[in-house]
Amino acid sequence: MDKRDYYEVLGVSRDAPPNEVKRAYRQLARKYHPDVNPGDMTAAERFKEINEAYEVLSDEQKRADYDRWGHQKPPGGFGSGFPGFGGIDEIFESFFGFRSQRRNEPRRGQDILMEYEITLEQAATGIAATVTVDRIGECGTCGGTGARPGSKRKTCPRCGGTGQVQVMQDTLLGRIVTVRTCDQCRGRGTLVDDPCPDCKGVGRVRAQAKVDVKIPAGVDTGLRLRVAGQGHAGDPGAPSGDLFLQILVKEHSVFKREDRDIFTSASVSYVQAALGTTVQVPTLDGKQDIEVSPGTQSGHEIRLKGKGIPDLRGYGRGDEVVIINVNIPSRLSDKERDLLKEIATVRGERISDGPGFVGRMKKAFGVK
Ligand SMILES: [Zn+2]
Ligand SMILES: [Zn+2]
Repeated sequence: MDKRDYYEVLGVSRDAPPNEVKRAYRQLARKYHPDVNPGDMTAAERFKEINEAYEVLSDEQKRADYDRWGHQKPPGGFGSGFPGFGGIDEIFESFFGFRSQRRNEPRRGQDILMEYEITLEQAATGIAATVTVDRIGECGTCGGTGARPGSKRKTCPRCGGTGQVQVMQDTLLGRIVTVRTCDQCRGRGTLVDDPCPDCKGVGRVRAQAKVDVKIPAGVDTGLRLRVAGQGHAGDPGAPSGDLFLQILVKEHSVFKREDRDIFTSASVSYVQAALGTTVQVPTLDGKQDIEVSPGTQSGHEIRLKGKGIPDLRGYGRGDEVVIINVNIPSRLSDKERDLLKEIATVRGERISDGPGFVGRMKKAFGVK
């Protein structure tokens, strides 16, 4: 059977924004969740399909790969830059609370949210960052066992090492036997006899860790990158939490950003504006000369195609917009004044000496 298109599976258009994809997914997942359709194989298949589609379309990198490669996996797999970015289980848990935590079960580690500041240049190129994370990790002294080095964990007396205990309950319907996770060893089957001095038998300590994160080109303030499994360590046998990096792009001294476009300004004198000139402007790729044509008005925009910020999903690059600022001199030399008077005469324009002069010059050059 041919694999259905992920957009078709979720019933969204190819340019649907993330919140729309999420909404479509939630609706479908609720409808086809196995808990809602017990024993229905068609629903189960559909549910699997929906999850697969969402796992790819909810992740910017994977979605970009999918848009480019379709179901055929690109070299290195979908979203190879982000191992496990956009896990379904956690999303599911937070949306519906379906995967309820059973009592005494080994607990998954907690997530960590960190703000990460980058420059506009870094946002434009993407960077390989090393982030220092203060997190709960495995104790190095005992290797996470919690037992003093040289000693061993002992078999849990309550469950006999199975990690499970049978609980009998008398109910109106008779005696019911249920199996539960052992509350003494939390399902591990063993206990610490002689605790490790560094972690007091917990097997976990707080320490700083360095985590390598690839920040893709095109990110903007507010974007949250998920780095799977780099959060706090969980109980032994349970997965670690995730690390979330909340991106903050610093204000730039010469560029203002608007999505994929960047804006800057360049000043020319009224003479240059009238006669035309070449000015040098900053770009993300270095300085560049641009032509200012004769008769350019103040506020005129010159668009440098493809000189903006790359699209996060790989759809090309935005533009740089240079706003031309025409300067009117506030002071003139005698010679300049004489020449301008001559121009005024040629143009038949009324002028006056003194304080009103600047205002009239502005008017003459069409500046408000
Ligand atoms: Zn230890
Ligand atoms: Zn036990």
